[in-house]
Amino acid sequence: MVAQVVVDVVHTNVAKPFSYLIPEGMNPAIGSRVNVPLGRRTVDGIVVGLVNDNDLPPELPLEKLRPISKMLDEYPALLPSMLELAREIAAETHCPLSEALRLMLPAAMRTGRIKQKQETYAATCCEDAAGEADRMKRAPKRAMLLRLLADGKPRSISELSQLVQNPRESLKALEEAGLVILSQREVFRSPYGEEDEKRTVQPPLTEGQKEALDSMLPSLEGGSGAFLLHGVTGSGKTEVYLAMASRALEMGKGAIILVPEIALTPQMVRWFRSRFGPATAVLHSRLTDGQRFDEWRRIRLGDAKIVVGARSAIFAPVENLGLIVIDEEHEQTYLSDKHPRYDARRVAKSRCAREGATLVLSSATPSILSFAMARRGDYTLVEMPKRVANRPLPQVTVVDMRKELEAGNRSIFSALLIQKLRECLERGQQAMLFLNRRGFHTFISCRSCGYVVKCEACDVSMTLHRERPDDETGELRCHLCGAVRQPPQTCPECASKYIRYFGSGTQRVEEEMHKLFPGVRTVRMDIDTTRGRDAHAKLLDEFGQGRAQVLIGTQMIAKGLDFPNVTLVGVVAADMTLNLPDYRSRERTFQLLTQVAGRAGRAESAGQVVVQTYKPEDPCILAAAEQDYRAFFEMEFSRRRTGLYPPFTLLARLLVEGESELDVKQMCDRLYDTVQTYLLSHPLQKKRTLMVRADEAPVKRIRGQYRYHVLFKLFDHPDASPLLSLMSELTALSDERCHIYCEVNPATMM
Ligand code: ADP
Ligand code: ZN
Ligand code: ZN
Repeated sequence: MVAQVVVDVVHTNVAKPFSYLIPEGMNPAIGSRVNVPLGRRTVDGIVVGLVNDNDLPPELPLEKLRPISKMLDEYPALLPSMLELAREIAAETHCPLSEALRLMLPAAMRTGRIKQKQETYAATCCEDAAGEADRMKRAPKRAMLLRLLADGKPRSISELSQLVQNPRESLKALEEAGLVILSQREVFRSPYGEEDEKRTVQPPLTEGQKEALDSMLPSLEGGSGAFLLHGVTGSGKTEVYLAMASRALEMGKGAIILVPEIALTPQMVRWFRSRFGPATAVLHSRLTDGQRFDEWRRIRLGDAKIVVGARSAIFAPVENLGLIVIDEEHEQTYLSDKHPRYDARRVAKSRCAREGATLVLSSATPSILSFAMARRGDYTLVEMPKRVANRPLPQVTVVDMRKELEAGNRSIFSALLIQKLRECLERGQQAMLFLNRRGFHTFISCRSCGYVVKCEACDVSMTLHRERPDDETGELRCHLCGAVRQPPQTCPECASKYIRYFGSGTQRVEEEMHKLFPGVRTVRMDIDTTRGRDAHAKLLDEFGQGRAQVLIGTQMIAKGLDFPNVTLVGVVAADMTLNLPDYRSRERTFQLLTQVAGRAGRAESAGQVVVQTYKPEDPCILAAAEQDYRAFFEMEFSRRRTGLYPPFTLLARLLVEGESELDVKQMCDRLYDTVQTYLLSHPLQKKRTLMVRADEAPVKRIRGQYRYHVLFKLFDHPDASPLLSLMSELTALSDERCHIYCEVNPATMM
C-alpha cells in the first residue's frame, strides 16, 4: 500500500497530495497525522488516501517513493467525514486543501507546541485504610495521607499537596509499604472554574416550546431535517436547544451548539454544563492552547458529546453527530473574516446532510437570506411568537434627537432617557445603554478644513481613547492594526487650532452617565475592556450579580444576554449603522435594534426601551420599534428584488493585496481585462453578469498592504458558475508581490 499525504505547507506547488511508502509495521489510516520527508526537510501532513501499489500511475515508480517517517498520534486525528468536509470547503472557498485541513485541528496540536499532560495519582489499596492510619502514630504525614485516601477515590499529587505539604516522599513510602498505589494518568486542562456547578432540571415547558419540539424531535429521531426557528426575544429558545440536545444524548448521539460571540459562550456553557455536566465541552479562541487541545481531545475520544462554542467549533470532531444548533443565526460572525472565508451556516448544513443530523438555525430576527430560504422550502419554519409566561414584549419609544438639539439639549442623552434612567435606578433595577460601534464618532477632525487623522499604515481614521475622564489628551488608536499615536494639537493640513474630537464612544457615554448620576456603578463592555482571557465573563458576572447598575456597551451586549433585573434599555444613537456603505446595513440596523430591545423585561417586571435617532421616520427603525419582523422582511425583500441585491443576485470579488500600489493596481487591471475578454467570447455568461468593475477597495490599505478589487454582481443562477470557476483559477496568478483572493458573498466588502 501507498499513502497519499497532503503536507501542512500552504503553497500552490504542494497543494496536491504526495505518495509515500508505508514502512513495515506502521498502520496509518485515512485521517492520520504523519511526518514525511519533503525535499531536504521533514514536514507534517495528513493521510488523505491509501492506494494499492499496482494502482500507482506509471510516472510514479515504487522505487522512487520515500517512506513515511513516523505517525504522530495513536488515533487518526481526522474523522473521514471531516476530511470530506475539508475537500468541500477547499472547493467552495477556492483555497488549497492543506489550508482547509488546518481548520479541523487545534493550532497547538499541528505545531506540536502542546503535549498531553500527565499527573501522578495516588489511591489506597488496603481495605481498612483508616485503621492503618490510626496505627501510624509516628508518621503523622503518612497517616494523614492515608486518611485522605480512605474513601478509595484516586487523588492527584497536586490535589493532595494543597492539603499536605510535599506529600511525594511520604506517598513513596506508603507505596513501598504496599498501602498505596501510584500511577500516571492523563489529565485534561479544564477551562471551567473550580466551583461545582449546580445541576438543573428541565422546567415545565411552555406551549410554544412544546409545539416547537413536537415539530422538530421526530426529525432528530430520524436523523434528518433542517429548521429555521423564529422565536421572539425571550421566547425560551435555549430550553428548546437543551431539550433537543438531551434527546440526542439519549440516542447516543452528539450535538454542536454555536453562539455568535465569545461573550455569549460563558452563559450558554453554564446552561449546558448545569444540565449535562462534563458531557459538555467548550471550544473558542480565548482558551489557552492547553485547554483547547484537551477539550478537543475530550471530544475526539467521545468523553464529551456536546460542544458549545463560537464559529470554529463547527469543526469539532463529534462522532455520530445528531444535532447542530446555530443560535442567532443572522449574525455576521458566522462568516469567517480570515481566509479561507467559510460560512459556518453552510458548513453546518453540509455536516448535517453528510452525517445524518438535524440542523436548527435560530433567531428572533432571521437573516433575509435564511427566511427567504425557509419560504422557498429549504428549511422548515418553526415559530415561537410569544414570550415565556406570556410576558409582554418591551415598549419602545423613539426619540427624535433633532428636536432635542432644537430644544437646547446638547447632551448625548435625551430628556426622556434621563428620566427613565432615573426611575429605573430609583426602583433598584438595572439598565443597559447601547452604542452601535466603539468610538464610532471619536475620530479627530479639523473643524476648519475637515482634515481627519488617519492611520499611517491603514486607510481608516484613528479613534481617540482616554483612560480616565480627566485624561485631557488621550491617545489615538487604529482599530485595524493597533497602531498608537498622540493626538495633534494643531491641524497638520491648515495649522488651525480647532482640531479636536467629537462624538460619543462608549467611554463618553460612561463619563456622561457618571456626571448625571454620581455614584452609580457602571460596567463598560467594548473591545478595549474585554481583551483579557476571562474579561467577558468577569464583567458580565459583575453586572449579573448586581454589583453595577448600568451596563454600557457595543454590539457585544446586543445579543442573547439574559439578565432578569434589566428593565430599561437605551439605544444612544440608532442610525449609526444605517449609514454604512453596505446593502445589508438596513438589515443589520433592524436586527441590532430588535435584539437590543429584547434585553429588557425578561423576567416579571416589564421592559422599556428608548431609541434615540436622527431619522425617526426611517421605516427600518419604525419596524424595529414595533418589533415586527414580518413587516421588515417584506419591505426589505422587495427592495432587494428591485435593487438586484442578494439573494436575487450574487456579489463576488477578486481582491488583490500587496505592498506596492503600482503592482497591485496593475494586477487588478490585468484580472479585469482577462475577465472582459472571457465575457466577450461567452455571451451567456455576459448576460448573467450585471456588473464588473475594477476599483480600489473601500479600505485601501491595511497593515501596509494596498488593496484593489474586481467586483462582480451576477444573477444567482447555476450558469454563473463557469465565471466563478474562472475567478477561482485566476487566484493562481498570485505571486510574491500580489496576493489574490476570490470571495463570494463575503461578510464585508471593506
Ligand atoms: P430567547 O433565547 O428565546 O431570547 P431564553 O432562552 O434566554 O430566550 O429564555 C428567556 C428566559 O425565560 C430565561 O430566563 C429562561 O430561563 C426563561 N425560561 C425559558 N423557558 C422557560 C420555562 N419553560 N419555564 C420558565 N422559565 C423559562
Ligand atoms: Zn485643518
Ligand atoms: Zn492601522
